[in-house]
Amino acid sequence: MATPLTADRFVAALRAEGVTVVEHPGWRTHNRNGHGAWGPVTGVIIHHTVSAGTANTVEMCFDGYEGLPGPLCHGVIAKDGTVHLVGNGRANHAGGGDPAVLRAVVSETYGDRPPAPREHQGSSGAVDGNSRFYGFECVNLGNGTDPWPPAQLDAIERVSAALCRAHGWGARSVIGHKEWSDWKDDPRGFAMPTMRDRVQARLNKAPAKPAPDAGKPAVPRLQPFPGTSFFRRETSSPVITAMGRRLVAEGCSAYTVGPGPRWGEADRLSYAKWQHKLGFRGSDADGIPGAASWNALKVPYTK
Ligand SMILES: [Zn+2]
Repeated sequence: MATPLTADRFVAALRAEGVTVVEHPGWRTHNRNGHGAWGPVTGVIIHHTVSAGTANTVEMCFDGYEGLPGPLCHGVIAKDGTVHLVGNGRANHAGGGDPAVLRAVVSETYGDRPPAPREHQGSSGAVDGNSRFYGFECVNLGNGTDPWPPAQLDAIERVSAALCRAHGWGARSVIGHKEWSDWKDDPRGFAMPTMRDRVQARLNKAPAKPAPDAGKPAVPRLQPFPGTSFFRRETSSPVITAMGRRLVAEGCSAYTVGPGPRWGEADRLSYAKWQHKLGFRGSDADGIPGAASWNALKVPYTK
């Protein structure tokens, strides 16, 4: 059992393990802390979402849905391996589960699998998992045939190892939701014992370190936020073109021609669509880029 990581330490642990992290706006203060305990934590639960598409899944996991308020996890793991952080604190992901599983995870005393769970949300012997586990929702239809791309499995391995390393846990602290509750079948399509082997193999090595000049970087460099004043001048820059291309790719185009290098009204209207898509409203969705929306847009580095 351990004290949960702060948001800064959480992000740092993931990045040190080589995870590509996107901080969804508002995630640092988004939780269910008024509705039960958060911590001490003892492990990580892996889920599948029964959904397709990254942006809508991230929104759903941030907001929750009728009868189950968000956050529905701490991070959403996209098919491309990107991890979108949506919650910091207690989250509605684990629900009730089996105390025998909890004991086995705390002591990390089990073989390939923890004891088969006999409890679930609302059953008489169930214990609260939302206070004890970090949760990651992986974008997958959960039908057993929707593929799990290597990049996504790699990200599951890395986020799990990152939290185990930060807390001094072994890979037996990482379980699937179906190993926690007898009502659940997620994650479906890969084997948790194999994933635990991967996590343990990673933990046995030193953490991944960025190799700045070792050939091509694994993650494309991104354009840092140029500051709000950059857009208030009549700016002409390849950064504006790169931004416009990303807005088009995100389905946020108000362009009739272009995008081009000179900041204009079509850029502002397109950017406002992007801010709206991220959940910003009113003056926060005025089309003038801010740091959070800019970083979420992931504009490629151009100069
Ligand atoms: Zn689940």
